Amino acid sequence: MVFAPLARESLGVGIRNLRRTLGERAYLVIVAEENLGSDWFDRALDLGADDVLADVDDAEVARCLSRARKVQERSRRAEDEVGHVTLERDYLQACIDHLPTPIFFKNVEGVYVGCNSAFAEYLGLPLETILGASVYDVAPAEIARRYQAADDALFDSGGVQVYESKVCHSNGDMRFVEFQKAVIKSRNQGVYGIAGAILDITDRKRLETQLIEAAERDPLTNAYNRRKFFQLAEDAAEWARNGARPVSVAIIDVDQFKLINDRLGHSEGDNVLCTVSQVLEAASGENNIVARAGGEEFYALFPGLLLKDAAAIADDMRSEVERFCRIDTLSSVAGTVSVGLAQFDPEFESLDEALKRADSALYLAKREGRNRLCLAD
Ligand code: GH3
Ligand code: MG
Ligand code: MG
Repeated sequence: MVFAPLARESLGVGIRNLRRTLGERAYLVIVAEENLGSDWFDRALDLGADDVLADVDDAEVARCLSRARKVQERSRRAEDEVGHVTLERDYLQACIDHLPTPIFFKNVEGVYVGCNSAFAEYLGLPLETILGASVYDVAPAEIARRYQAADDALFDSGGVQVYESKVCHSNGDMRFVEFQKAVIKSRNQGVYGIAGAILDITDRKRLETQLIEAAERDPLTNAYNRRKFFQLAEDAAEWARNGARPVSVAIIDVDQFKLINDRLGHSEGDNVLCTVSQVLEAASGENNIVARAGGEEFYALFPGLLLKDAAAIADDMRSEVERFCRIDTLSSVAGTVSVGLAQFDPEFESLDEALKRADSALYLAKREGRNRLCLAD
């Protein structure tokens, strides 16, 4: 308790000085030596006094002390509350700051109201810049529009939203990420905004790609494998059936390949197979498919092409292989290809039947001297 005399005419300055000296928590009581009237009381309260007394007697002082205690008790509880909330907020912030996953919160206006260090690092901006900003302030306009559209859709649908995206980290790395977002509601179902986490799935995506490659591609030549060929061929057959369009199929077999293995060794034989595969692929054109059927045998598929149009391309493929892969040995020519081609009408036969006819044409090409194309009946 501090007592300080105050001159009547310097009431304002006096109250201000006392407040400054004693701080906000002090309970400032002005005691008037004479009754100066209610205007004076109001003025003292307006100027910052907490209480005003006149005609001081013991009972009046006791009531004033009781009021002071109540006020002080209330303000202590309020401070405790604020301290508790601050502690809780710091604790939650520390929790999310220690997680490597970028996390953010936005209000219904799309303004960031919270995020963790990983999110700030992901954007390459200080946390203070992000808080209070919208996505348009932190991302290029086109990307921001996309994110905003996704947020709008989430607000419309409610619940949870999960989607994959390719994004550029602030360090310049392109990463595959999965956005996991949810609409945040209060206990009485009022919408607070959106909470989101950005999971880095780059490694998983890489593994997925490797698995798909392993399932679809031949490990030696990297051409499509047999399984993938049959999938694509069935799709093409379906497409042809629905639109009454033609499809042609070819079987392509490397000539005298055994000789290559025998003369140059198995590993050089492997190299030749890789080159043949690349040459066939390059010469086949855009919409056509080449796959390694097994050994030194390949399949080709020509969706939408009649026999004569497919034949022109298949013969180009043959002559390109001759140009790049032909090996002349003393006894024979090797490394060229023989091709049997059949038009496949999915209305009337199965793919296997068409391949059988192509195989018969291939047999004919071999019999007639190799390095040639024969057409099935
Ligand atoms: P043709 O002109 O009648 O087709 O004669 P060819 O020698 O090509 O046919 P053949 O079926 O007698 O021999 C094929 C050879 O291909 C036998 C096999 O050892 C070899 N081969 C199969 N797969 C591979 C492979 O992945 N790498 C290597 N280097 N050789 C393979
Ligand atoms: Mg062969
Ligand atoms: Mg063969």
